[in-house]
Amino acid sequence: MSDKFTGNFTQQQPIPEDAIEAAVRVMRHGRLHRYNVVAGEKSETALLEEEFARYVGAKYCLAVASGGYALAAALRALGVGVGDTVLTNAFTLAPVPGAIANVGAKPVFVETTQSLVMDLDDLRAKIASSGARVLMLSHMRGHLVDMDALMEICNAADVQVIEDCAHTMGAFWNDVPSGRHGVVGCYSTQTFKHMNSGEGGLLVTDDAEVMARATMLSGSYMLYDGHSAGAPAETFKDIRLDTPNCSGRMDNLRAAILRPQLRDLDTQVAAWNARYDAVENGLRNTPALQIVERPSGERMVGSSIQFLLPDFSQSQMRDVLKRCAVRGVELKWFGGDEPTGFTSRHNSWRYVDPQELPNTDRILAGLIDMRLPLTFSLDDCAQIARIIREEVGVVHQAG
Ligand SMILES: *Cc1c(COP(=O)(O)O)cnc(C)c1O
Repeated sequence: MSDKFTGNFTQQQPIPEDAIEAAVRVMRHGRLHRYNVVAGEKSETALLEEEFARYVGAKYCLAVASGGYALAAALRALGVGVGDTVLTNAFTLAPVPGAIANVGAKPVFVETTQSLVMDLDDLRAKIASSGARVLMLSHMRGHLVDMDALMEICNAADVQVIEDCAHTMGAFWNDVPSGRHGVVGCYSTQTFKHMNSGEGGLLVTDDAEVMARATMLSGSYMLYDGHSAGAPAETFKDIRLDTPNCSGRMDNLRAAILRPQLRDLDTQVAAWNARYDAVENGLRNTPALQIVERPSGERMVGSSIQFLLPDFSQSQMRDVLKRCAVRGVELKWFGGDEPTGFTSRHNSWRYVDPQELPNTDRILAGLIDMRLPLTFSLDDCAQIARIIREEVGVVHQAG
């Protein structure tokens, strides 16, 4: 009854041996900069771009310094600038409104549903009221909204969609890879995402001009010929002179680490989903606890799990967190007054004009989040679920 979990919620797997060897090869030859190549050589970065473009079925791919950099470059490549409004999720993480602020634009937040996705009725209303021409859609915590319905709304209103796939690399909606519905898809290869190069980002699109602008922005000087998954040379004719260099390239060392991980990604996804299912099964039918049901169109990546305690008070929520922590289970709560760790809320971002988001606030007040690193075994996951179930039960009964 009072067993304790001793695993570590932030411990990722080690970098695979073949990736370590690839990194060592790059260090041995010393050509870490993506444009430092010998005659006839394709850089590791260019090869990663080719392979990732193929993986998601995109025409073009650009590797950059971070996921947040990719988001800001995507906005700028679409022509978003100072004073423009950009629609985005009220429930997301700080790099998303941060990318919008980075180009001098203003986020307009869209409400969240019980399924933790963007509320499409509110999206329609906010498109009309804001006049925004771009939506930065964050697939927060891996939950995919009905992408067919969302794209229909956005296409009808002439709103361009940038997808933030920091939590959905390897996921699909109705057999279309996440990141391939909108005009641009952005991914992160930061340590806590689905591939680990410490920091890093990827941007994909089928639009040659958008790719050419993003490439120049990333700091390609006049060396864009080396982008074998980049836009055709003629696309750069004016763009190369009109676009500022806002240095944010990826280097060959990170790319070398990522290429073997990309080959393993689908296997990793299956391992995450097995862990997700183990926790979800263990939590099912817990009184007072609401599972977030996944839609049938979604092929998810269960690298984290969320559940709701809709009727719990703030002090009950804090109690659950405290009791689980004593037993080694680290939960995050999106309803706290103060931002902590990676977790903050729309009203913690004081550089954004305050906005009324009653539905999102109500949902976040009861929302618990937990990471599922692949260093957890399936037994670990069952134990974690058991502990949560018991502690939620104790708090519920004390009522
Ligand atoms: C991590 C993250 C990003 C940005 O990624 P970085 O590579 O850390 O800049 C963007 N959106 C969400 C939701 C994230 O969690």
